[in-house]
Amino acid sequence: MTTGIVYDDIYLLHRIGNHVESHHRLIGIMDFLKEKKLLDNPDFKLITPRKATLDQIRYVHEDSLIKEVKEVSELAEKTGHIQSLDLDTSVSAKTYEASLYSVGGNLQAADEILNGNLTNAFAAVRPPGHHSNSYKCAGFCIFNNIAITAEYLFREKGIKRIAIVDFDAHAGNGTSDIFYNGSKSGGELVMFDSHQDGRTLYPGTGFIGEIGTKKGEGKIINYPMPPRAADDVIMIFFDEIISPMLYEFRPEFILISAGFDTHWTDQLTGMGWTYQAPANYLKKIKTIAEEFAQGRILITLEGGYEIDKQARAVYNCLKVLNNDDDLIEENPIESGKDVLNYINDKLIPALKDKLKPYWNCF
Ligand SMILES: [Zn+2]
Repeated sequence: MTTGIVYDDIYLLHRIGNHVESHHRLIGIMDFLKEKKLLDNPDFKLITPRKATLDQIRYVHEDSLIKEVKEVSELAEKTGHIQSLDLDTSVSAKTYEASLYSVGGNLQAADEILNGNLTNAFAAVRPPGHHSNSYKCAGFCIFNNIAITAEYLFREKGIKRIAIVDFDAHAGNGTSDIFYNGSKSGGELVMFDSHQDGRTLYPGTGFIGEIGTKKGEGKIINYPMPPRAADDVIMIFFDEIISPMLYEFRPEFILISAGFDTHWTDQLTGMGWTYQAPANYLKKIKTIAEEFAQGRILITLEGGYEIDKQARAVYNCLKVLNNDDDLIEENPIESGKDVLNYINDKLIPALKDKLKPYWNCF
């Protein structure tokens, strides 16, 4: 089996000064993979991204958003200064170009998974995407990589059922916004979005009552975790909610928005995960992909701001994708009793109650 790693130096050219979403994040990942000699292993293949077309970006974004990113990038080039799209989303001269390749890297990987060159893939791309909705870039994000990839699979590749799993510490509000009424192309999509409770973290959304409307009703699943929730809490989400739902939904492709800012040391968030937690979660998700989707998983990078911890977490995910259990582990962390009681006695039953009208499994 072959696991693809999408990377290109173009992603370093979205260079936005001292911003926490820095090009050093990707350098850290690639350096660590080299140090571990992962790129010398024939089971892994480096994938060169292509540029997404404007028609593909338009699958989810309005023309006004695309035009704004292009023009602000041109302004950055002309003035030689970093520009801003909003309070936390910065743009350099090459941001527009890098963003087209960020989407295109995901599309290239999706193609190679579908044509059998790859079993699965990890797209080490930036800028990230999950906070951008159809009309607004936000939260360090430019084009919504994962949403465009989902639409690409529906519209150009004939895929009919996609599951998106977003495990960034922040709610994937851009992605859930885009699919809140269901996919416009007629594909079936379900999204599982775990994150730190919006009462305690940006963007302040992603509560269990936000379940989608119209064709999307019952298909957006939010799992707001209290601060300091550790590895055990995400496994409960999988066992109680994701697994039964995906056995019913039978996804043909699984797309993952992977943010590594759930690590207990992350400077922007207050979660309590170890750096092996994402890989252990992925192991479970992979069982579903193997059952229904011929193993097809594409992971795209979102956040993660402790560079060395993120590099280890990504390495672990790559090992799991490639069926290798030999992970780098730190001391296990368990959630506090109050956190576990809240999850088991309140959050999970309340979430099942919300979903019951739409899913036979509850
Ligand atoms: Zn995040």
